[in-house]
Formats: sequence, C-alpha cells, structure tokens
Amino acid sequence: MSQSKNTNNTRICPVSRKCGGCQLMNMTYPEQLKFKQAKVGKLLSGFHRVLPIIGMDKPFHYRNKVQAAFGRTRGGEIISGVYQSSTHNIVKTDSCLIEDKIADEIILTIRRLVKSFKLTVYDERAGRGFLRHVLVKRGFTTNEIMVVLVTGTSAFPSKNDFVKALLKEHPDITTIVQNVNNKFTSMVLGEREAVLYGKGYIEDILCGCRFRISPKSFYQINPVQTEVLYGKAVEFAGLTGKERVIDAYCGIGTIGIVASKGAGEVIGCELNADAVRDARVNAKINGIENISFYCADAGEFMLSMKEQNEKCDVLFMDPPRAGSDKKFLSSAVCLAPERIVYISCNPETQQRDLYYLTRNGYKVKKIQPVDMFPYTNHVETVVLLCKTAE
Ligand code: SAH
Repeated sequence: MSQSKNTNNTRICPVSRKCGGCQLMNMTYPEQLKFKQAKVGKLLSGFHRVLPIIGMDKPFHYRNKVQAAFGRTRGGEIISGVYQSSTHNIVKTDSCLIEDKIADEIILTIRRLVKSFKLTVYDERAGRGFLRHVLVKRGFTTNEIMVVLVTGTSAFPSKNDFVKALLKEHPDITTIVQNVNNKFTSMVLGEREAVLYGKGYIEDILCGCRFRISPKSFYQINPVQTEVLYGKAVEFAGLTGKERVIDAYCGIGTIGIVASKGAGEVIGCELNADAVRDARVNAKINGIENISFYCADAGEFMLSMKEQNEKCDVLFMDPPRAGSDKKFLSSAVCLAPERIVYISCNPETQQRDLYYLTRNGYKVKKIQPVDMFPYTNHVETVVLLCKTAE
C-alpha cells in the first residue's frame, strides 16, 4: 500500500480529512520520508550535513498509546474517536491505520459495554456524565496492556461487573485504572486515580532494559523507532565508561538508563513527579546503581548544577516541542560538557536552540533524523554537538 500513490486519501482512511492527525496521508511512505528529509534539511543543514532519515519497514499501527474521547452524536448515539483537529468535535473512529490494533479493539468493546451497562458519557458543555476518555497503553515487548478509564465522576456504577465484562472479552489486559477528571480542561487525565485491576502500571522492554510505565508518565509512542533513536543518541554520546552524564527532560529515565552501562555516573532531571518515581523504580529493576533522578525544572536544575560548580561530560537533552529555555541553555554552556546530544521532536525549536549553542562554544557534528511518526508531519532528530577548542 505504501508504494502506491494515495491520491484519494479517503480510500486508505475514511476519516483522514476530518481527523487531521495524519497530515501526510496523501503521500506514499517514500514520499513522506523525502518530505521530512527536506523539512529537516531546510531548518538544520546550515549547521551540518543532514544524514538520511531512518524510516520504518512497516509504517502502520506503530502507536502503542491510544486515546479515544467518548461522547454522543446529536441523535444520541454513543461514539468514541478522535477530536477533529483544533476542535472538540469527536470524529467517530472504529480503527486507525497508525494505532495499535488491539488497543482499538479494546476501545470498541468499551463503547459497546458502556451501552449495555447503560453508563453515561461525558458532556463537555454541561460538565456532566461518566465516561470521558479511554487511554490504552501496550508494552510492545511484554504485551502488558493498561486500560485507563477517564471518568467525570468518581462514582462508578456497576464497577466490578464492568471490569469483569471487559476482562472476559480481553483477557490480555493486565491492568485497569480509573482516572477522575471533572475539570473544564482539554487535558485528558485528571489528578485522582484508582486501580481497579492489576498493578496500576505496565512494563516494557527497550534496548534490553525494563521500564515501568504509569498512566501519566511520558513514554515514546513508537517502540520500534525508539530503539533506533536511543541507539543513535547513545552512539553519538561516545561513552567510554568514565563520563558524568546528565539526562535532562528524562521522562521515566529511559535514555539515562540505556546509557548508564557505558557511563561513570548519570543524573536524570524531569519535571513530572510520576515520571521521576517511575524512573527511580526503573533504575532499581534494571539493577543500575550509578544513576540518580531529580524532580525539577530542567532550567533550574542546570542553573543549580552550574552554581555548585558541578562537572558534566556529556549532556543528553530531550525537551518537549517548545524546546529549551535560555536558563537551561546558558547554564549548559557554563557547565561546558564535551558533548551535547540534543534529541528533538520539533526541528523548528531545535534550530533556535542550536543557534544559541553554536554561538556559544559548540559545533554541530552530526544530524540524524528518525521517523518516529509515519503519516504525520512530525519528525524527530538527534543532533551531536561538540565543544569547540578555545
Ligand atoms: N527523554 C524522555 C522524555 C522526553 S519527553 C523519553 O525519551 O522518554 C519530554 C519530557 O520533558 C517529558 O517527560 C516532560 O514531562 C518533561 N518536561 C517538560 N518540561 C520540563 C521542564 N521544564 N523541566 C524538566 N522536564 C520537563
């Protein structure tokens, strides 16, 4: 399918225009890779030659985290699906080309069970109703499956029977969590959580390390390409076993843990407290003792490292789409690691940050794009910067 020209995108996905999640649906996969290569080239080739993008062999059903919003049509039918881009109108979807197939099947079952249990769905305008979203995360290697039912109220009518019915249809589910979100917000998850079945988290294996994933913590959504991405990041770091490494914006500690075997010491920093808790557990379950994690804003953390005259040989940084801030970048420059490995999901903010770093003592040595999100216009890049001789 990826070889043929998709001139009529509705043939491949009936809701692609309304959903808007897959902006490149009208391109073949090789065309998408070319498009992304050009996008990265345009933004970053001024710093260094851009290596050829690493794509997927099978660019479908790669998303191991699937989210569905629940609501009603004007006619009263209960539906689930994705929000039409830039709106809160739900586009009914039964399956999706890029989402995990099992996750989609579970969501369809829940849609059916909601009707048979006569549960209500959440009405955003009225701020009333029960089921708001369903989030499914699946461990790619372990096949552990977590279902998070996001509800508008903490009261859950027929809770035990509902859980039993869901498990009967999908015995592969390893944990079910209720998350209560009764706020007027576009955030999917609320504060309060109750484990209804299983451990309340799943585990997965990446690059030979085991990771615990909670409902709220960030975990890369394309496990196949994440191994490629982390592999490149660690390769670029050129670790010899002695280095003091910082893993900034570390999430559940994945990059730092994968890198720790080749480093002297690793320090991870992350803002999300749940992710930090997972990161500490992850270090323990992998038997890693040369790593520690701090819950802090990465900019503040780097500043305090600088103020305490701490040493850093290699800095991994993997900020969110907005990129890093001046506080972070200026402190990083003062800490003066030999190498910075900058992983980014947004080449535009990465370009901005690279301007700063290259004006302040660093030179870009490698740029490697990786296609983590086929069919969408997103692209991930790993950039190696080295300190220039003074
Ligand atoms: N490196 C991890 C996570 C990358 S996503 C991985 O590969 O899985 C970016 C992470 O940055 C998220 O976990 C997010 O919670 C965190 N984050 C966002 N803003 C931050 C800030 N100001 N300081 C520290 N961490 C931040």
